Formats: sequence, structure tokens, C-alpha cells
Amino acid sequence: GRDYIGFATLPDQVHRKSVKRGFEFTLMVVGDSGLGKSTLINSLFLEDLYKNRTISDVEDRIHKTTTIEKTTMEIEERGVRVRLTIIDTPGFGDAVNCDDSWKVVTTYIDDQFRQYFTDESGLNRRNIQDNRVHCCLYFVPPWGHSLRQMDLEVLKRLHRKVNIVLVIAKADTLTTCEVEKLKTNILNAIRENDIQIYEFPECDSDEDEEFKQQDRELKASVPFAVVGSNTILEVAGRKIRGRQYPWGVVDVENSKHSDFIKLRTMLISTHMQDLKDVTEDVHYENFRAQCISQISQ
Ligand code: GDP
Ligand code: MG
Repeated sequence: GRDYIGFATLPDQVHRKSVKRGFEFTLMVVGDSGLGKSTLINSLFLEDLYKNRTISDVEDRIHKTTTIEKTTMEIEERGVRVRLTIIDTPGFGDAVNCDDSWKVVTTYIDDQFRQYFTDESGLNRRNIQDNRVHCCLYFVPPWGHSLRQMDLEVLKRLHRKVNIVLVIAKADTLTTCEVEKLKTNILNAIRENDIQIYEFPECDSDEDEEFKQQDRELKASVPFAVVGSNTILEVAGRKIRGRQYPWGVVDVENSKHSDFIKLRTMLISTHMQDLKDVTEDVHYENFRAQCISQISQ
């Protein structure tokens, strides 16, 4: 198996300056309770499988409110430091508080923008902590035919504020055909409703063919069908993160079984810096423009 998850490629994505300071990245997970958000996050980042890196908890499980849960960790890999913050939003979309559950999320995103805006106009501009949400993983349930009305409404509240990456939860409950069909329907719904999900940038023409191929496959996999698991299984003498069924094992990291690796590659090895750039240049700019027009009124 591989021992690294890919942070070490970050210097290729950005300038020296940020390498020295370390990277700050905030990922938010949104979706119904029980869709496997916490499990996926755990599978993505909190693995004990990766021994060649150190994790030190900066703030362990800060409970901001009853609904937003923030975990920050410093991850270091081959000398590259990332301060990764996960915003978990349990219970989102629960029938009981469905009406304004999106408010908790949008308020959180706006609050981080506002804080950054305040800090930026302050005296100590050089050492601002960037807590802006750079990416929102939106979990779509596997048992529907497409996005639900509720999903569309929530996405409309979010898409001008944050980079949305759609994932189909618990993809191991679907057949290959069902996954393809659901992906098509979701993309159609996105188009018909003018929802702006995160768009992968054009691949640089001077990239090598292997990278271009990887990039094409990444784009073709959206929305990512994912499987998560907190269980380490031993299969044929190899330790894997998987789900054991009576008929066999789903290997989370097997690309035939799910898009998990593609999602992780995208978040960490290839598009982390672009997600930060789009946050800064598009979403934060929108917010700033609103603030400034409100002040001048
Ligand atoms: P959350 O409420 O969205 O954070 O969901 P959890 O991560 O707590 O998971 C809820 C339940 O779904 C747990 O029993 C998990 O074991 C199970 N689960 C998580 N991920 C998957 C998956 O990819 N496939 C399947 N079949 N079950 C999953
Ligand atoms: Mg959870």
C-alpha cells in the first residue's frame, strides 16, 4: 500500500512562501445525518495506515454549537505542513429542523468571511489565520433518483459562497449501472437548476500525458461515488480499509469499487491550491463586494 496521502505535492501547486508558512485548508461536510460524512472524513484523513507522517491535534473537537463541529489538525508529510480543518455538520437536513438547517451552514461560512475581512483591514495583516471554508463536500443520498428538492434548495443557498464538490454517499449500496445513472441525473439537475458546482480548471498544456489522463478521469467521475469505512481488514495478507459483506469485501481505496481515491487525490494532491484560489478570487470577492456596497449605502 501507499504510505503517503499526497500533501508532499503541494509545493508544486504553489509558491515557496506558502510552503514555509504551511498551508491552511478548511473542508466542510454537508448532508443528511447518517450518510457517512464522519466515516468518510475519517477514511480520508485520520488514518492510522499512514505511518510516515505526524498528526498533532491543535484543537481537539471544539464544539462551537450543537450542530457545527470543528476539528483542526496539523499534518506534516515530507516537510510540508498543512493545517487542516474539518467542519462537520451532523444532522443536517433532518426532517425536524429541515427548514433552516442550511442557515447554520451559510452563517458559518459568512462568519469566516467576515472575520477574514475584519482581520484584513486590521493592523496585523501579515499573520491572518485563514478559516474560510475552501471546499464543501455535499453528500447526496444513494437511494434517490437524483437530487431532491431539498438538496436543490440548499445548494442554491451555498453555491455562490463556497466550492461545492458533490459526492454520492454509500456508493457500495448501488450497482455500477445505478451509479452511472444517478451521476447523469444529478448532473442534469445541476444544469437545469443553474447550480454552480466547483469546476475543474483547464489542464495546463505543458503537463505530461499521465497527468492529463488523470485530470480527464477526475473530471469524468463527478459527482464522486464514495465509500467510507472505519474498519481495517486483512485481505490476502494486506491491510485495507474496507467493508465486509457476506459476499465479499469492498475496498475503499480500490478505484473499481469507488471514486474515493479520485476524491482524495483531487482534494489533496492536485486541486487544493485551486480550491483556495477560487475561494479567494470568487467567493470571498463576492462577499467583500457585498460588504463594501453595504458600507457605502
Ligand atoms: P454521518 O451522520 O453522516 O456522519 O454518518 P456516519 O459516518 O456516522 O455513518 C452512519 C452509518 O453509515 C454508520 O453505521 C457507518 O458505518 C455507515 N457508513 C458510513 N459510510 C458508509 C459507506 O460508504 N457505505 C455504507 N454501506 N455504510 C456506510
Ligand atoms: Mg457525523
